[in-house]
Amino acid sequence: MNQQLIQRAAEDILRSKKTIAFTGAGISVESGIPDFRSAEGLWQKYDPEEYAHIHAFYSDPDKVWLMLKDMFTLVMTAKPNPAHIGLAELERMGLLSSVITQNVDGLHQAAGSRNVIEFHGSHRTLSCLKCSTTTDGTSLKIEDLPARCPRCSSLLKPDVVFFGEPIPPKAQAYSFKESKSCRAVLVIGTSAIVYPAASIPIMAKEEGATVIEINMESTPLTGQISDYLISGSAGKIIPAIVEEVRRQR
Ligand code: NAD
Ligand code: ZN
Repeated sequence: MNQQLIQRAAEDILRSKKTIAFTGAGISVESGIPDFRSAEGLWQKYDPEEYAHIHAFYSDPDKVWLMLKDMFTLVMTAKPNPAHIGLAELERMGLLSSVITQNVDGLHQAAGSRNVIEFHGSHRTLSCLKCSTTTDGTSLKIEDLPARCPRCSSLLKPDVVFFGEPIPPKAQAYSFKESKSCRAVLVIGTSAIVYPAASIPIMAKEEGATVIEINMESTPLTGQISDYLISGSAGKIIPAIVEEVRRQR
């Protein structure tokens, strides 16, 4: 871990009037939920292009539910890791305005973050594409899946944003507002290739914010949009930043 960059990030957070975090699947890898790039796991079995597109759900919902059931099983048992917990601590310290996440696993909320914007929706509710009925998914058990519409018995779709679907308008508007008004953004565990999500750090940069990237590898943002990349695992780097913030404060 690069201690100099940890110190720099802590200084940037303490200096910034408003800091936000923008997170992707990488922050939940240490909680046991694979990202799209992992060499093993869910996405080796199910090609996201084939299973995570809205057309796939329309044409063969039974097939897509095979993937969804595996995803639900992972999400139901996953626990927040030190990266999620560190962000919740920064918020409690009054140093983090919001977490904008592309994840649908609810782990930021489970860690105690309060102001979480779910850019790609969540598993907590499910909707019927035929009759528009929406139901609560929080009390569902694995045995209840695939879930059917209580009104018309069609297969329900979790309210997560599939490829080809629009971003929930309120989440998008609020995220863009946060990114344009922040002075620093922590970009954690995202490959930054899925748009419009990836425009969040770009907008922040255009408004003069400091962009701090935390990732195992470089991304299209690295060296272009991000001011610096702290290479390594989020579960180690975020707690180290929080500790350094405490030390400097
Ligand atoms: P991605 O899979 O495209 O990229 C993940 C990034 O995280 C990679 O750049 C990787 O190097 C990095 N990474 C992996 N492990 C890390 C670690 N321990 N610490 C720091 N960085 C790490 O993910 P994305 O950019 O979020 O885009 C994929 C889309 O898939 C998103 O829309 C997301 O909603 C969805 N998705 C969500 C989940 C989830 O909810 N947990 C899981 C898989 C995919
Ligand atoms: Zn229905």
